[in-house]
Amino acid sequence: MFDLSGKVAVVTGGNGGIGLGLARGLAGAGARVVVAARDAKKSAAAVAELDKLGRGDALAIAVDVTDEDSVNELVRSSIEQCGGLDVLVNNAGINIRKRPEELTLAEWRQVIDTNLTSAYLCSHAAYPALKSAGGGKIINLGSMMSIFGTGFAPAYAASKGGVVQLTKACASAWAKDNIQVNAILPGWIDTALTRKARGQLPGLNENVLRRTPAARWGGIDDFRGIAVFLAGPASDFVTGAAIAVDGGYSIQG
Ligand code: NDP
Repeated sequence: MFDLSGKVAVVTGGNGGIGLGLARGLAGAGARVVVAARDAKKSAAAVAELDKLGRGDALAIAVDVTDEDSVNELVRSSIEQCGGLDVLVNNAGINIRKRPEELTLAEWRQVIDTNLTSAYLCSHAAYPALKSAGGGKIINLGSMMSIFGTGFAPAYAASKGGVVQLTKACASAWAKDNIQVNAILPGWIDTALTRKARGQLPGLNENVLRRTPAARWGGIDDFRGIAVFLAGPASDFVTGAAIAVDGGYSIQG
């Protein structure tokens, strides 16, 4: 159910934060992980760490997920070096925290391209390989902003709402190919992304602790289990779902 031996998993943004947490889960369950991000130094460190947890065959491939050619090359090179592709994790993401009236068109496009168009580009590029393998798994990263609104992240919320709908569309289209497509909706997780937010939003730390039933921030290792579940046979009849990993944040009245 939870054995990923022989599987190849590409994780965008796998060199840090939640992506690294997901990659740790996948490597620990036996998958060969491709760490796909821009910062080569961070990616090399992630590969060294994953090699201690897994089979010692992780690798890094540089990619800019906003660039179609770069994404196509990532998928081509992953298949060439690893002999196939079974799991795609669309995790790379950014946020620009501004109110709608302050956000520029360039900033809007940067967030949408990085968080949403990237998931389309990577899924589109990976589909033929997943199909020809007889099936596969795509895991997309949404957010609490896939569900809730906020005044300070219009492009981010739009991108993450879009990720959930893209997840459902691809799940519906590719069920016949035995490809399951699901989304993870993280709550507030302690990463570089939210460390910046803590600096920008006064009272955020206190609000997160008060509002989250689990009364703590998530850590990146909270994503190891869901990665293994959604990447392996245990989730073969789960598709189009958006699963919160949030310590109860989204069910708190
Ligand atoms: P981090 O900032 O810690 O990591 C973001 C990752 O994305 C980095 O590995 C970065 O690598 C990569 N990345 C960014 N832009 C690009 C790009 N253009 N091409 C390739 N890789 C890119 O963020 P988190 O780990 O916190 O977030 C991961 C995902 O989880 C995101 O989609 C985020 O929206 C989502 N999320 C996070 C939450 C949280 O509380 N932290 C809550 C809800 C959702 P590099 O710079 O080397 O390219």
